Amino acid sequence: MTDLQELCENVKMGREYALLGNYDTAVVYYQGVLQQIQKHLVSLKDVSKRNMWQQVRQEFSQEYEHVKGISNTLASFRSDGSYPQSNRPSRGAAYEEPTRDPDVWPPPTPAENQGRPAPNYGGNRRNVQPARDRPGVRDVKPSGPDRRGVAARPAGNRGGAVGRSSDDKYSAKRPADRVKKVEKGRASSPKRQQGSEDEPKFDATGYDKDLVEALERDIIQRHPNIHWGDIAGLEEAKKLLQEAVILPLIMPDFFKGIRRPWKGILMVGPPGTGKTLLAKAVATECKTTFFNVSSSSLSSKYRGESEKLVRLLFEMARFYAPSTIFIDEIDSIGSKRGTGDEHETSRRVKAELLIQMDGVGGVSGGEDATKMVMVLAATNFPWDIDEALKRRLEKRIYIPLPDAPARESLLKINLKEVEIADDVNLKLIADKLEGYSGADLTNVCRDASLMSMRRRIADLKPDQIRALPKAELHMPVTAEDFQDASKKVSKSVSAEDLKKYEAWMNEFGST
Ligand code: ADP
Repeated sequence: MTDLQELCENVKMGREYALLGNYDTAVVYYQGVLQQIQKHLVSLKDVSKRNMWQQVRQEFSQEYEHVKGISNTLASFRSDGSYPQSNRPSRGAAYEEPTRDPDVWPPPTPAENQGRPAPNYGGNRRNVQPARDRPGVRDVKPSGPDRRGVAARPAGNRGGAVGRSSDDKYSAKRPADRVKKVEKGRASSPKRQQGSEDEPKFDATGYDKDLVEALERDIIQRHPNIHWGDIAGLEEAKKLLQEAVILPLIMPDFFKGIRRPWKGILMVGPPGTGKTLLAKAVATECKTTFFNVSSSSLSSKYRGESEKLVRLLFEMARFYAPSTIFIDEIDSIGSKRGTGDEHETSRRVKAELLIQMDGVGGVSGGEDATKMVMVLAATNFPWDIDEALKRRLEKRIYIPLPDAPARESLLKINLKEVEIADDVNLKLIADKLEGYSGADLTNVCRDASLMSMRRRIADLKPDQIRALPKAELHMPVTAEDFQDASKKVSKSVSAEDLKKYEAWMNEFGST
């Protein structure tokens, strides 16, 4: 049922784009619909239903041919004659051509075309200004390899009359000029790192304003303000991350060729062990711009906008480079979990993510290290990660439960601002809490520090509570409080889970 809803939605989108004269995009939707119908047909046993669907397919494919015909005709009008029609890697053509990676849909611009004039994917798309306020009919510039192509295009050879105005603005600024702006900002003004008003701001011209705002608001965290010292234990992981992110920035010449920085790093481990904290510390300590996205929000929050969001995310990351893109719950992208509808969205998100990750590649190819975009992903379910994504997350590190010394240091970090009674022996408490995750330990501390207050206000009425002197509430936390709290908070990770992580790391890990 959900598949059918998705199908209807795609039909609607395809037709809307076609009506708006946005043929290239319409073609992509049409192809998706035909694929979906084909899939549906294969699953049908009832002959009469099959016949009916075959007829639908035939009718729709005629419509598709018609739209494709218009799209091709328009393409042949473009004055950018350097691109023979047969070679033009439009999104439509990409559908029929062999892909570089079977998991990628649609595929990136073939490598051999990257230095050549850019394919004008959305030439007519940009020319016809679709009603931006209409839901679902928003326009975001194409990204990744094709965008690099746009920048590489010589000034005198930019498109034709079609799609000229906004495209020109775009190619004049992207990506070289914008990156230069960042470098200038960094070199001349150390304020950039202090979040000053002068900080270069991503120019949203030509992009979907809502999406840019959503990214600026929800996803970019300029100064996460988590330092290595705020994270207990995990020395090995910290060292590795430092090596992966800081060293290439310090010694870009060394990290070239075979020593190129990792495209992506995957942190694997039970929930609540500090993976997010590590990512934030990387951004803080390495002074990279931090993009914090959760995969589930990518696949659901911005429904229908998800691939655009991914493209924009990387585009902005390149602009604010060096950047760290942290993707939490990466397993939910392209995984087999979720409904058909969710699956379809996340499949498209995954495809875009693969394309973009192929485009980042650290500072390889003699690029400037300050342009580094590092993808840092985290998962509690590594076994759900799809093969293609796993391949791109080249370095896989284990983030284990804290050992006894790490537990003690975690208790200390959490209790920094809390007064502790003399009878409390944190080492003893840490020893007893074996198997607790960092998040479990934080909960124990929180609970213990609330115990004395709870005791004090028991049986009091709100008025009496309000009248209590502050000092009476701020009683030191006692050993008994810790004991009570650890009884209330139980371990969230089982021994079985741990075995699963270890087995996965033995097979796929790289530490
Ligand atoms: P994950 O991303 O691995 O699920 P988080 O990094 O979000 O876990 O950690 C959740 C919370 O648990 C943190 O906000 C912090 O309070 C606590 N925590 C977990 N691990 C650590 C650690 N190693 N050091 C300090 N606090 C930790």
